[in-house]
Amino acid sequence: MSQNSLRVVWVYPDLLSTYGDQGNVLVLERRAHQRRLDVQRLDVRSDQQIPTSGDIYLIGGGEDRPQRLAAERLRRDGGLNRAVANGAIVFSVCAGYQILGHEFINDLGQREQGLGLLDVVSTRGEGERCVGDVLGDIDPQLGLPPLTGFENHQGVTHLGPSARPFARVRFGNGNGTGDGTEGAFNETVFGTYMHGPVMARNPHIADLLLKLALDVNALPPVDDRWYDALRNERIAAATQPA
Ligand code: GLN
Repeated sequence: MSQNSLRVVWVYPDLLSTYGDQGNVLVLERRAHQRRLDVQRLDVRSDQQIPTSGDIYLIGGGEDRPQRLAAERLRRDGGLNRAVANGAIVFSVCAGYQILGHEFINDLGQREQGLGLLDVVSTRGEGERCVGDVLGDIDPQLGLPPLTGFENHQGVTHLGPSARPFARVRFGNGNGTGDGTEGAFNETVFGTYMHGPVMARNPHIADLLLKLALDVNALPPVDDRWYDALRNERIAAATQPA
């Protein structure tokens, strides 16, 4: 953390921010402020350089074409890989998650190289798009309550040996491989298919990232009443499909 200010970088809001993924930055900032932490938020558009000194990087989902453009620019830029090499934490959603892997299928139907920050490979699902509310159990190692989110993707993501599934689904598809896994993570890099925005539905994920960035085991509690109300509503929606 630089000079007592937590640097949060929101990567390419102009290309990657579907289904309210911007909410992740807002929730992360808010929960940091509630703990009296000073936050420096940097929104980095796709025509700007990715700073390498951030503590936490957030990347959202996107349509297929912006996803390809974002991958091209991130590869050329190289800043995100350097930041991770420096120990930065990255949390990515859907298209962002696919970009962090080794490769994915782009809007032209071609294999597009990712950043290789997560040991995953994404292909194009042959079946119907995965769309709807999801409920899952996050890897017990992370100590978080159940995961709720909304998914909308055609891509299917396969995990390699050095990526752990972020969660196991009870309802919904997640990675779409049929093995019940959802998302992936390693020591500092996280990927999920969950929109919602996922941190509004799962504020403990924001807290997890803050704890990792601050290298602390616990944070002062905050009032989660409104989050809990949203969680309960969306969990009910996932378990009682229309
Ligand atoms: N284009 C990707 C897919 O359909 C990601 C979509 C998204 O980010 N919502 O798999």
